[in-house]
Amino acid sequence: MNLYAHTPFCASKCAYCALPSAAMAAGDIPADFPELLAKEFSMRWPGGRFSTVYFGGGTPSMLGAGGLARLGLALRRAGLETIRGAEWTVELNPAPGLIGGGVLGTLADMGANRLSFGVQSLDDGVLAMAGRRHTAAEAVAAVSAARAAGFANIGIDLIAGLPGDDECKWRATLAKAADMGLKHMSVYALTVEPGTALARLAAGGGWTPCADGELLDRLSIAEETLAGAGFRRYEISNYAAEGFECRHNLACWRGEDYLGIGPGAASRIALARRANSADWRAWREGLLAGRTPPADNEEELQPADDAEERFIFGLRMAEGVSPDAFARLHPTAAPLAGRWRKALAGLAANGIAAETAPGRWALTPRGREVADSAIEALL
Ligand code: SF4
Repeated sequence: MNLYAHTPFCASKCAYCALPSAAMAAGDIPADFPELLAKEFSMRWPGGRFSTVYFGGGTPSMLGAGGLARLGLALRRAGLETIRGAEWTVELNPAPGLIGGGVLGTLADMGANRLSFGVQSLDDGVLAMAGRRHTAAEAVAAVSAARAAGFANIGIDLIAGLPGDDECKWRATLAKAADMGLKHMSVYALTVEPGTALARLAAGGGWTPCADGELLDRLSIAEETLAGAGFRRYEISNYAAEGFECRHNLACWRGEDYLGIGPGAASRIALARRANSADWRAWREGLLAGRTPPADNEEELQPADDAEERFIFGLRMAEGVSPDAFARLHPTAAPLAGRWRKALAGLAANGIAAETAPGRWALTPRGREVADSAIEALL
């Protein structure tokens, strides 16, 4: 079992972000938020110990060192138990005001052992246009501070195609990132989401987004640069030094169950799927009234649909998928294995997938560019 806890607050809204996070001052965050997260955990915890814990956002450190310490304590009191050697990740914003005040030490004391910084670029002009609250030097300093606080497993996120970026700046960002002693990098292509500041900028003619081909080139440059620095692309958007793949995400992609708590958090437990309401006020009111927080979506899948959903995720990973091995693990998938084998052979004939071992298929470099269509072919 894997736990995801969502903190939906940010100090300000980044220009590209369409996540359901509320921009507010730290002092305006309800003081009972950590305890309410733990209350939801105790109401929805299906039992068992957790292999991974992931505090994501939003910006979890908006809770401050005190709030994070209370969250860790409240979850433990509510019954959170982790297996020996569990991975515990916390997402952080490297802005100085968001990692100071004892946050890093508190996270280490709590048992967190993996940090993921949202860096996005290492060019100050690009960071300013993206509405980030930190400079490149501050991002580098944040990683150094985390290392000094005892964290060895540190990663960052980067985004290709941000306004103001070009191939030269992108190469420079990748080269600097490769030199930061990191263990993990997530590299995403920018999508201009409706309702964001970037969508408004583009609509007003103030910026022209990169063409698809150019974005794909930037992702190829990332793969080449990071491979040269010892990072393996183990999933479409994720690179890691050997042994430092994100175990939380791997577990979710391999089809394990996860419990999501907090506004907007999603869960998959056996056949049940649930996405909490992203409205943090409704989430809070529900819990204060002693009710499970409202859901935006809640459904019980048929066993075959459940098996299909879990199988499909596997195709995003470099390790690929084996219909027969999956059917042995999930007997409800057995009737689907023949169809999957046929679809994968079809994708292989078109250069989208390749058989990497007898009965196991993975996406080719071309397949990774059209992953969503490849996944549709399996459905
Ligand atoms: S810090 Fe992250 S979640 Fe918050 S607005 Fe920026 S990108 Fe979105």
